[in-house]
Amino acid sequence: MEAPLGQSNEDYPATFLEFQERFATEESCRAYLERLRWPEGFACPACASVGGWRTKRGQWFCSRCSRQTSATAGTIFDGTRKPLRLWFLVMWHVTSQKTGVSALSLQRLLGFTRYETTWVWLHKLRRAMVRPGRDPLTGEVEVDETYLGGAESGVSGRKTETKAIVVIAAEIKGTAIGRIRLRSVPDVSAASLVPFVQDAVAPGSVVCTDGWRGYEGLAQRDYRHRVTHISRTGRLAHELLPRVHRVASLLKRWWLGTHHGRIEASHLDYYLDEFTFRFNRRSSRRRGKLFYRMVQQAVQVDALSWREIAHRSEANNHDR
Ligand SMILES: [Zn+2]
Repeated sequence: MEAPLGQSNEDYPATFLEFQERFATEESCRAYLERLRWPEGFACPACASVGGWRTKRGQWFCSRCSRQTSATAGTIFDGTRKPLRLWFLVMWHVTSQKTGVSALSLQRLLGFTRYETTWVWLHKLRRAMVRPGRDPLTGEVEVDETYLGGAESGVSGRKTETKAIVVIAAEIKGTAIGRIRLRSVPDVSAASLVPFVQDAVAPGSVVCTDGWRGYEGLAQRDYRHRVTHISRTGRLAHELLPRVHRVASLLKRWWLGTHHGRIEASHLDYYLDEFTFRFNRRSSRRRGKLFYRMVQQAVQVDALSWREIAHRSEANNHDR
């Protein structure tokens, strides 16, 4: 161990040189994961008891139930045959690029022979971008939908056939944007929109929308619903809900610029998580802090959601 367990200060490299020196060995990477997974000291994932010791092979031995476990068990690193050093390099790379990376550019950087391997890695890391139990948005929040995909002819308004629908919530902080939440939805019915608001926004908040009927009923669910009808004001949609529209245009730019408009609809939510992760930390000048957050969240992801991705993606086999 390089440093004792129980040290809870946020501790991360500031520069790439520092990163390289710090994580030059498997042992140093493993020690970092242990510290972030068990900041208060080792706790057994099987029986939840505190206390145990580290074996010579780098496993943790529970003094109560005798079970052996490792810092990577149940996390996105579980079962990987690639060195942790490589995972760390990818996490540094992903968090230090302001707009993120595509699987293709990462594949070139790492020299992986298989595109699928890189793709699965990025997908696992996107899972780690959502903080478990994260705080809902509060105060005044704009909510509206946007569409990703090519232009459709003969379709107007909220009907769509080939585009993905993304609903956006953005906190109003004066003239600026606070935190955001995004979700892809199958349609713009109340059954799709209202549960998103309930997951993303704290009860008692003010929710600002246009007059779309999918948002009716928010006032009956512990929200103060502020509705602005575009037709009555004579103003354009982006003037009424400027924050969600700014987020929508940034999302589209990112989607086209980094991913060239190629994102499978079934995986869209993972990409939206990545966009949200970056956006909500956009003012952080220390990129190392994003790296720290990602590692911290990567060791908190439970095995269940990890297996869910593994099953959804046949390409996962290429990581073995
Ligand atoms: Zn135990």
